[in-house]
Amino acid sequence: MFRGADEPTAIGDIAVDDDNGRNADPCTSTGCKWPKSSDGLVYVPYIIANHFTSRELQVIQRGLDSFVSVSCIRFIPRYNERDYLSIESRSGCYSYVGRLGYGQTVSLDRSGCIYHNTIQHELLHALGFNHEQTRSDRDNHIRVLWDNIIEDMKYNFDKIATLNQGTPYDYDSVMQYHRSVNNHLA
Ligand SMILES: [Zn+2]
Repeated sequence: MFRGADEPTAIGDIAVDDDNGRNADPCTSTGCKWPKSSDGLVYVPYIIANHFTSRELQVIQRGLDSFVSVSCIRFIPRYNERDYLSIESRSGCYSYVGRLGYGQTVSLDRSGCIYHNTIQHELLHALGFNHEQTRSDRDNHIRVLWDNIIEDMKYNFDKIATLNQGTPYDYDSVMQYHRSVNNHLA
């Protein structure tokens, strides 16, 4: 995955729809993948709300485009596709995990979320990726200091039966909470 720099990482940023309880499921087995096109690429349509400045739009576009050279993912402006991402500045940085169906919000709050890594992070959630530290194999790689986590935040460290696809644990992933963030949860 992408390498991190010292930009902020979102905390508790997974949007949960109470109606379908998909928060903890490896939802890729229940239909939340974005479909692969016959050319082998995965096109993910998006719209961007009109309340961003041109500088903010540049950063967002750079985040969307950063997937091209490293993956089969192609974020494309929505034409009339049913399912798409609606990139908006709401309160906080958050996304649903995987394809929800119809328009789904990816919130990039103008105050605090317009950073390359944060944008990649939320887009990766929308593609179906969970946080690195919730990987099913994480106990082989990290030690969660439960006593240092405030009660309301512990759910962020629940393990998920993730499909790790043979990939090694990536401490530098933008999907991994950083030590400094963990400390400040304490
Ligand atoms: Zn996240």
